[in-house]
Amino acid sequence: MNKFPENTAKQETTASSGEEAVSTNFIRSIIASDLKSGAPAKKVVTRFPPEPNGFLHIGHAKSICLNFGLAAEFGGVCNLRLDDTNPIKEESTYAEAIMEDVRWLGFDWENRLYYASDYFEQLHEFALRLIRAGKAYVDDLSPEQIREYRGTLTEPGRESPCRNRTVEENLDLFARMRAGEFPDGSRVLRAKIDMASGNLNLRDPVMYRILNAPHHRTGDVWCIYPMYDFAHGQSDSIEGVTHSICTLEFEDHRPLYDWFLDQLEIHHPRQIEFARLNLSYTVMSKRKLLELVREKHVDGWDDPRMPTLTGLRRRGYTPGAIRDFCRRIGVAKRESTVDVGLLEHCLREDLNESAPRRMAVLNPLRLVITNYPEGRNEEFEAPNHPQKSEMGTRKIPFARELYIERDDFMEDPPKKYFRLSPGREVRLRYAYIVRCDEVIRDEATGEVVELRCTYDPTSRGGAPADGRKVKGIIHWVSAAHAVSAEVRLYDRLFRKENPTGDRQEPDYRAHLNPDSLEVLTDCRVEPELGKSPQESRYQFERLGYFCVDSRDSAPANPVFNRTATLRDSWAKAGQA
Ligand code: ATP
Ligand code: MG
Repeated sequence: MNKFPENTAKQETTASSGEEAVSTNFIRSIIASDLKSGAPAKKVVTRFPPEPNGFLHIGHAKSICLNFGLAAEFGGVCNLRLDDTNPIKEESTYAEAIMEDVRWLGFDWENRLYYASDYFEQLHEFALRLIRAGKAYVDDLSPEQIREYRGTLTEPGRESPCRNRTVEENLDLFARMRAGEFPDGSRVLRAKIDMASGNLNLRDPVMYRILNAPHHRTGDVWCIYPMYDFAHGQSDSIEGVTHSICTLEFEDHRPLYDWFLDQLEIHHPRQIEFARLNLSYTVMSKRKLLELVREKHVDGWDDPRMPTLTGLRRRGYTPGAIRDFCRRIGVAKRESTVDVGLLEHCLREDLNESAPRRMAVLNPLRLVITNYPEGRNEEFEAPNHPQKSEMGTRKIPFARELYIERDDFMEDPPKKYFRLSPGREVRLRYAYIVRCDEVIRDEATGEVVELRCTYDPTSRGGAPADGRKVKGIIHWVSAAHAVSAEVRLYDRLFRKENPTGDRQEPDYRAHLNPDSLEVLTDCRVEPELGKSPQESRYQFERLGYFCVDSRDSAPANPVFNRTATLRDSWAKAGQA
């Protein structure tokens, strides 16, 4: 019997206002009350148990933060266990990526890295125990027949003709399964529970199947592999996990896990289920993410538009922003979808504090200051952060020829346009006020290619001598000093809020956002940015947050990924 009472605690309130929001949750309450009542006797042990068949995504981050967070909070430990029971879909590259991502997110399993495959011998021994006790049998039915005999939610299943084999016969056949005498799919080992159970998981579930496939860790040692349902609960038990926290779909499997643990009379973790994270404008299942990669809708698992941790990292997300997001969403018993805007909000809050400011021009337009002496250079000292003097300053070179943003000039401006236009003045951030005197066009195309301006020398870094007010402030770079860069403007990968839930168009791929990536190859950034190490993050003034690409950026040819715009541009417009 499960020695714990049912999970009755309700979700407690999640304070919602501002920074101080501490979400307490029903899992925390259960653990606290277990500790009070003396069970578990020793310290709390949790685990994060990914299957190494893909990269971790933001949903996994929720589980990681929860498991490691609860262990830390209660003075316990959290294991990392790779649930590698399926040799067909698993690879060691995934296992390595998982470890890197968990570490990046800021969690440490110390020396507690485990693999379900390390327990294969022990699990096999558990299976033998069940056979000897008359609780498991070898079945010769084909996979199709097993499915057919299983019955439905409304009809009971039928017993296999092999169900009443003797213990000796079962031991012999199982030994021969292990010895490799039989082809894939020809036999399985099943638990002998109840073919009429209302819970389909209890209708003699398969424990072992034959798979003549090498395993990425155990090589050719095994040709039978335990099913996830036979491996998972026992692995938790072997590790002495006290609180086995998993997502809601395992609620119906809990009676089966209980049955195995009870029959085997081994340590019984308490299983607690919570609702998985779903995010708007995002697909989260590993199968779909793998499809996006294989079909080249994205540029790999680490494409900055992917909800994978490696993708978010390449996009410029900070581990702190992701942890903050996981803290704010809390933990509940009921499925829901979280607005991806909240994730972006957490990111902006973090970067607003931590990202140094820089100037960058994405669509350059040449601006020549005709009354500024040729060959003269000056430098302006600009703060790296407007509110944080401790973040220091950097020098920005200024000269006669500059680039400004094409968007910051309009020939025929509407009334409330405070940027540059013919005859009008604007402040160049940190530098001088300039007035636009003349517009130069390309003779063939008519396109504006250069602005001729004059500057007011008395306006250096402050109000001009006559005290007149100039409203607009724009960013700029010095043409001779700026570094050329590529900038990739990323946007949401899907146009639909729920890409998998559209009845008219169930194929989520039809909802891919065709404008999720725009590449600008002719950008100019201030010289400081040429030296930025990969993964460093900045706020480009007036434009958004950007991060140096970790794959393609090089000092001579920097590449920046747009991490986020300054404000949520989807909040109003995004209801596609
Ligand atoms: P997917 O459905 O995306 O393929 P999975 O559940 O098969 O994911 P696992 O590697 O088995 O992936 O997951 C490892 C752990 O992460 C499990 O404990 C699982 O419950 C948890 N997890 C997976 N997806 C989410 C999610 N969206 N929200 C919260 N936890 C999740
Ligand atoms: Mg799973």
